[in-house]
Amino acid sequence: MNMQALYFNGARCLEWRDVAQPRLEGAGEAIVRPLAVATCDLDVAIVAGKGPFAPPFQIGHEFAGEIVELGDDVDGFRIGDRVAVAFQP
Ligand SMILES: [Zn+2]
Repeated sequence: MNMQALYFNGARCLEWRDVAQPRLEGAGEAIVRPLAVATCDLDVAIVAGKGPFAPPFQIGHEFAGEIVELGDDVDGFRIGDRVAVAFQP
């Protein structure tokens, strides 16, 4: 299955790009498939070209989704659980 990510390339310039499938990089991690997304207050400033980060980068970090893969050290969750992802990290 192809996976895409939305990239911010500069003021008012967004682009979908093909990216590698995510994979667990540690036993305490999970992979979550987004089911619903939100727009961060900061996204508006970023897309207008007023953000503090230099492009290009993937944009979007607020979502709820379904766990599709879990590391061995994750307790309290199962594959298929629906979760809200903390957006600060
Ligand atoms: Zn945010």
